[in-house]
Amino acid sequence: MGVGGGGRTEAIMREIASLRAQRDELDSRIRFFESQLRVGGGAPAPTTIPPSLSTKLDAVGLHAAAQQGGGALSPDVVRRYSRHLLVPDFGVQGQRRLSRSSVLVVGAGGLGSAVALYLAACGVGSLGIVDGDDVEIGNLHRQVIHVEAYVGQPKVKSAAAACRAINSSVNVLEHHLKLKSKNALDVVRQYDIVVDATNSIASRYMLSDCCVLLNKPLISGSTSGLEGQLTVYNHNGSPCYRCHFPNPAACQSSSANCTLGVVPGVIGCLQALETIKVATRVGESLCGRMLLFDALSSRFKTVNKVHQRSSTCTVCGDISNLTQDTFVMFDYDSFAQSTKSSKPTVIQNPLPKNARITCREYKRVLDSGRAHLLLDVRPVHHFQIASIPNSVNIPLQELQERLPRLRDALSEVADVSHGRQARP
Ligand SMILES: [Zn+2]
Repeated sequence: MGVGGGGRTEAIMREIASLRAQRDELDSRIRFFESQLRVGGGAPAPTTIPPSLSTKLDAVGLHAAAQQGGGALSPDVVRRYSRHLLVPDFGVQGQRRLSRSSVLVVGAGGLGSAVALYLAACGVGSLGIVDGDDVEIGNLHRQVIHVEAYVGQPKVKSAAAACRAINSSVNVLEHHLKLKSKNALDVVRQYDIVVDATNSIASRYMLSDCCVLLNKPLISGSTSGLEGQLTVYNHNGSPCYRCHFPNPAACQSSSANCTLGVVPGVIGCLQALETIKVATRVGESLCGRMLLFDALSSRFKTVNKVHQRSSTCTVCGDISNLTQDTFVMFDYDSFAQSTKSSKPTVIQNPLPKNARITCREYKRVLDSGRAHLLLDVRPVHHFQIASIPNSVNIPLQELQERLPRLRDALSEVADVSHGRQARP
């Protein structure tokens, strides 16, 4: 098949994938409405519980309760969450509290993928997802909630479809917008718990301040390279983000795009776990503690330095003057950027003009056949991604050390090119 035929085949395949995605979304919506009919007193759902499960449920007094009316769990709920119900510390009460909770996941990227998928599967009552971006093929390695058929479409639409496909009984709400101080209060106040899955310093401050104003717990996770961290802010007396980081200069900038996809997946799963613990009041949440994860050594460490609120915190402390009005007007992007200007300025043009060469000028050198050595001083992994043929890679950090050997090699090349015998 020629090039034109191949292009047409790809277009048809894309169309088929798109139609299948639409069909899947329609199926999930149909299942959701069918489940609503059952909850609302329509045709009773089958009550066939496997005998083995029935025995186990009887042992912990759940089967009898499932058959009762009023506040008892429906057979559908018992069947779907039976493994949750059998967890002694979680049980019926935990599942019921989870089903009555509402969680807002801010960001449908690497962190948000794991958070949203697990919260939907685990049966949270309402799940809001906020994101203003579209699905991109270059992010699918870590944003595992999205599939190729949704590339180019809003991430909230893709993420919501995935969550509905897992669990049609969850009320999934889409907020296709970038959460800013101007719109955050209206969105956040609709939910019980907020999950910061943005991996952005500006959003971290904004969400923390918003949660203090609205008295909501904030499950905060972030990754940078192959490291991650996690804590719970503004819950049971725990500090807010500003108590810990009064100034953005102290914040570690995130490089969400430069990581192995599984790293935000690990932190996102832990965020989902902390969310469930806060929603159900089961276990000991990370309030006042911070969990650190090092992917390379596979080590977790918990530090307690964020234990208490700071009385001098400008948001949750004694001298706080933050109001909803000042919050709405605050420019968090500028605030997060402001410290960058106070850091040492990166020299953009370290070489004088006569020591530079443009791409076109270098092309002329190549075309002339003049002997030369093209040295690439980028990091090794950049060089391995793409490089100019016949170039030599010596990372800038190693250049000083390897310069003498490089000079020797160059002089040998010069000798040969001038017809002299190279040194032994
Ligand atoms: Zn604070």
